[in-house]
Amino acid sequence: MIRHDYSRVDPKRRANLDYKRRQFAKAEFQQQNYEHRLNFYVLPPTAEITLEEFETWAINRLKVLSELEACSFRNKGPEETADYMKSILDKHLPLRPDSSRSQKLQEERRKDHYSHFILRLAFSSTEDLRRRFSRLETMLFRLRFKDDDPRERQEFVRSLNLEWDEVQEDEKRELKEELLAASGHKKGEEQEWFKVDWERVPELVEQRRVLLKRGKAYVPQREQMSLVVADFTKKLDDALELTARALPRLDEDDRLAPILAHLSQSFTAPDAAYSSSDANIDGLSAIRATSIDALSQNFPLCMRNLHMTLRENSHLKHFGRLQYTLFLKGIGLSLDECLMFWRRSFKLIDDDKFQKEYKYNIRHAYGDVGGDANRRGRGYTPYSCQKLLTEPQPGPGQTHGCPYRTYKPENLLPLLQRVGVTDRDVLKTVKEDVSKQRYHVACNTVFEWTHKRQIKKVADDNSWSASDLDTIVHPNTYFKRSWLLTHLGQASAGLAPAAAAPHTVED
Ligand code: SF4
Repeated sequence: MIRHDYSRVDPKRRANLDYKRRQFAKAEFQQQNYEHRLNFYVLPPTAEITLEEFETWAINRLKVLSELEACSFRNKGPEETADYMKSILDKHLPLRPDSSRSQKLQEERRKDHYSHFILRLAFSSTEDLRRRFSRLETMLFRLRFKDDDPRERQEFVRSLNLEWDEVQEDEKRELKEELLAASGHKKGEEQEWFKVDWERVPELVEQRRVLLKRGKAYVPQREQMSLVVADFTKKLDDALELTARALPRLDEDDRLAPILAHLSQSFTAPDAAYSSSDANIDGLSAIRATSIDALSQNFPLCMRNLHMTLRENSHLKHFGRLQYTLFLKGIGLSLDECLMFWRRSFKLIDDDKFQKEYKYNIRHAYGDVGGDANRRGRGYTPYSCQKLLTEPQPGPGQTHGCPYRTYKPENLLPLLQRVGVTDRDVLKTVKEDVSKQRYHVACNTVFEWTHKRQIKKVADDNSWSASDLDTIVHPNTYFKRSWLLTHLGQASAGLAPAAAAPHTVED
């Protein structure tokens, strides 16, 4: 396999680089030895990797970070997050301790090291990306720090040489009462204290778990993790700023630029493209125009709302028709059946008007007519949640978009009740999420409540993996998963929707 330097400077050009650029060109290409499982990512990697490794490792890490972000969106607590992330980390970014005696320790640590730096390059361009990247990397570090082997963790912390001043005995005596009050400990309970500039431990200050005095935070030993994590974040934030400043000078490698652009795009818009596998549902026979009423029970609220409006008015406005047509195409409805579906649904108009005013648009959505812009005969792709949640709000009489966003709470809750969501706690959670603009979180909450029993079953008997139940980010995935769960045991064997997830950053 052809190998490529990780450095982004062409070696032939390296000799002619000016003084400032030479700092990037002079890297010594050598393999590092990773003594610890945890890493503060202070030194960039300098050994060679292939372009394929470059991309695959970055995508693997991105998958992990996206899942972590989904956990925080969904308010999962630390324990729940750790549980959920276990299989995802094992699959995409395993990192075993020394005590495992695995042959792959160095390999895993190398991948972790490189993937961090690749994403650092990809996500340092804007303030917003930097903030998100830093927050998620910090979450990942904290997760690993917590579950590290205690002895190895201590060795790692020692290796950091962090600048913490130990509080000496005379100062401890002087501040005895205040230290006791801050720690919540009783008299006689001895413990060690460190002092650091208070800005370095904002989390502890905010939670009043330290004593603040003369600009210093006095931190008890047991809060060591917060200190280490705060230091990790600070170093990463500083490094991201530096990388951002260096980015224009790094923009030299034609091979890496598209990969980095693609990575940052996936992160900016966690959009999920539709996967044609969403149309292949084990156990669901060919969908007919006449099946849609029954199938609509498994539709997400955005499509259910369109369907109900269509049935009530025998009509839908243009954008609603387009959104719904693409969704129906995405679940596997053929063009002929789709035309029949719309013809029968628009029962207040005559054939002539249907042929002239509506038929063309439906055929166009399927790619049956139209030019180059129409994706070379494949038509348009069913809309993702990301698209539906970011398009302009519908005007009067229009019903397209995501109702979690387009409806006011006083209208959304009755709509949910109408489709059978009656649990008061669920409705309350939805209301809260919607008020914080976490629309797709609200939708996932409704999905989980609706399929609570079946989700428990597939989790208990391990017939679906955790990733089969990832956060839903596409209406067509919602349908496929909902249908499969509703028909558990009825579909043919091997119905776990491994292919149901839309193409995400993993693809
Ligand atoms: Fe539809 Fe997505 Fe909104 Fe759910 S979050 S209602 S699937 S657009």
